[in-house]
Amino acid sequence: MWVRCALWGARTPAPLRLGLLASWQRHCRAASSYSASADPSRVRALVYGNHGDPVKVVELKNLELAALGGSDVHVRMLAAPINPSDINMIQGNYGILPKLPAVGGNEGVGQVVAVGSSVTGLKPGDWVIPANAGLGTWQTEAVFSKEALIEIPSDIPLQSAATLSVNPCTAYRMLVDFEQLQPGDSVIQNASNSGVGQAVIQIAAALGLRTVNVVRDRPDIQKLTSRLKDLGAEHVITEEELRKPETKNLFKDMPQPRLALNCVGGKSSTELLRHLAPGGTMVTYGGMAKQPVTASVSLLIFKDLKLRGFWLSQWKKYHGSDEFKRLILTLCDLIRQGQLTAPACTEVPLQDYQRALGASMEPFVSSKQILTM
Ligand code: NDP
Repeated sequence: MWVRCALWGARTPAPLRLGLLASWQRHCRAASSYSASADPSRVRALVYGNHGDPVKVVELKNLELAALGGSDVHVRMLAAPINPSDINMIQGNYGILPKLPAVGGNEGVGQVVAVGSSVTGLKPGDWVIPANAGLGTWQTEAVFSKEALIEIPSDIPLQSAATLSVNPCTAYRMLVDFEQLQPGDSVIQNASNSGVGQAVIQIAAALGLRTVNVVRDRPDIQKLTSRLKDLGAEHVITEEELRKPETKNLFKDMPQPRLALNCVGGKSSTELLRHLAPGGTMVTYGGMAKQPVTASVSLLIFKDLKLRGFWLSQWKKYHGSDEFKRLILTLCDLIRQGQLTAPACTEVPLQDYQRALGASMEPFVSSKQILTM
């Protein structure tokens, strides 16, 4: 989708850019059919024209709905979360960046309103999610190319659908792709109350894996601990407890983990490494502390630990859309079986986006902000 945006430069004046955004949307479609009822001002979108503080640079704009081309799908967005990667993209600190102006949001669920004349396999009423990052999900409706979308079953809860395509996929892949774990084996992770962390806890439990879950201390730590245990966490400990020698005692009753999942970096990741079993792997997928991963030389030499990284966008590139669809269906089965629920969420109407953006960047909130359209 970013390539499609590359029609104008960031130096273009803002009003012109919004006009260009609409004409870009029109340009992107083969104009084989048009939506006769399109109301030029009915699309409301969260647009940013410059990188910077999301609360300052993101604006609610009216956009023109693009014409529906033969291979396009008109989608009414239902709900879209605010993820750290959305924030990083707006700040200009992410692995892929759109040409500006861009509509924010990489994840979400929408309902098909109409399909172009050559579209098969999708019909009005179906639920769809983005196939890749960069769709621009923070808008009330849009015309997307069919290839940009993946159909999902509409019998799962809305919040699960809106948060399905990034965090649970990341959690699942990290649990199965790096170490051959068997039921009864253990996994250790930090930022365990994150969206990914909550999915790790639940998917691990569904696979019969035992989890040690590290979180930052906070006044209501007991409440958070109970919530994570209700999801299937075996142990929940604070970063401070992780550093104490007696934490080793946890592994008298459970195997030492061969897999550590690092969302944080810095000291937290150094501590995760200390608890890995010889030959074990630490997978880094996030860097919330904005600190490098430091591994002790002795641990690398004497325990032969492996340091790996994971990026879902890259995984999708290598494995293709069919495998991604299979992954989505596997996760939908877990959702239907009650083994995977949405992360703790706060629904916020689109027009209150500034509140939601602000809350998404606050520490210790423990609730994913979901924009509802
Ligand atoms: P959430 O917004 O749900 O949670 C953020 C988490 O980060 C919370 O647990 C929060 O803990 C923690 N956190 C925030 N700041 C710090 C800090 N300074 N030190 C330690 N912990 C901190 O996030 P998501 O689950 O959506 O994403 C988590 C990370 O994973 C992000 O970095 C995201 O970009 C990355 N990610 C990477 C993917 C990949 O493919 N590589 C895919 C999906 C996500 P607290 O409650 O204590 O504030």
